[in-house]
Amino acid sequence: MSAMEVVKEDGRARLGSVRTAHGRVDTPVFMPVGTQGTVKAATHRDLREMGAQMILANAYHLYLRPGDRLIKEMGGIHRFSGWNGAMLTDSGGYQIFSLGVLREIKEEGVTFQSHIDGSKHFLTPERVTELQENIGADICMSFDECVPYPSSYEYTQASVDLTTRWAARCRDAKKHTDSLLFGIVQGGAFEALRRRSAADLMKIGFDGYAMGGFSVGEPKSVMWQMADIVLEYLPEEKPRYLMGVGFPEDILEGVKRGIDMFDCVIPTRHARNGSLFTATGRINIKHARYARDEQPVDSGCSCYTCRTYSRAYLRHLFVSHELTSYYLNTLHNLFFYTNFLERIRQSIADGTFREFYENFMSQWKGGD
Ligand SMILES: [Zn+2]
Repeated sequence: MSAMEVVKEDGRARLGSVRTAHGRVDTPVFMPVGTQGTVKAATHRDLREMGAQMILANAYHLYLRPGDRLIKEMGGIHRFSGWNGAMLTDSGGYQIFSLGVLREIKEEGVTFQSHIDGSKHFLTPERVTELQENIGADICMSFDECVPYPSSYEYTQASVDLTTRWAARCRDAKKHTDSLLFGIVQGGAFEALRRRSAADLMKIGFDGYAMGGFSVGEPKSVMWQMADIVLEYLPEEKPRYLMGVGFPEDILEGVKRGIDMFDCVIPTRHARNGSLFTATGRINIKHARYARDEQPVDSGCSCYTCRTYSRAYLRHLFVSHELTSYYLNTLHNLFFYTNFLERIRQSIADGTFREFYENFMSQWKGGD
């Protein structure tokens, strides 16, 4: 039985759902990032009320603190954290290879130093699979090596092959039958290696396929070129996940190409920096021009922040470093994203995705 049901297509955009042990997730979906098992400056109640269906936690971070075994003892991440929606855990490959921690990669696994206390750790694909199962993720990710951009062809090729062998070991190590395991297509900015990675992972067979190694400094055009190549290989009946992307315009671009799942720290991180999303682009609330602005952040937004507070007051909270500022800004940005995805899904259902895409892109100005 496939985890994905595609109910409608509009061009290459797909409307569907992914079945998880914690409910059906309507796609295309955006997953707020909750690295430590919590979305920063938001409560689970807020997330549920705004319609967030699935959040993303990070196995690497939870393994280091509080520990996957502690989470298992506490009944798994859902019971431990009180989140009853779907949860995906990233394997931590990206963190191990990007946090700048000392690391040594071998066939067997990777040795690295904790970014928290410098302690030494050794993780194998088998252990990474086990720790995601201990955490209790609904969707687990295979352990991959994420190469920096730019990297040489030779290095990337060796890395892709290692990632494929590790992915096979993750699949063999998986014990739980009520969670899904996704493979991660790597290959950097090399067309031939993206093809090789996708084809090899397809032979192993996963419940879904992710595209990793993007948003590491490569030009957007390269990312879409690589994504288009990979998408040719991905089966219709499996979810397709573009990791770490992105801005609303990137998500829309991805949906147009047939991608189902997205995650990114942008709405939450930007919120904490005072950068807020509106129908036409981002505004920075710290700007003096908002000091006496009585309008809400976005007049078309029905979130609690916009229903209650003016830009002027939100600016005051932000420049005063009031904690409420992080909360109210995060609430708005996440609401913007969940609402945006809801409108995308509706447009595919109505067969008006193309129009939605054109309208959005013609109004969208990026940041101020
Ligand atoms: Zn709002």
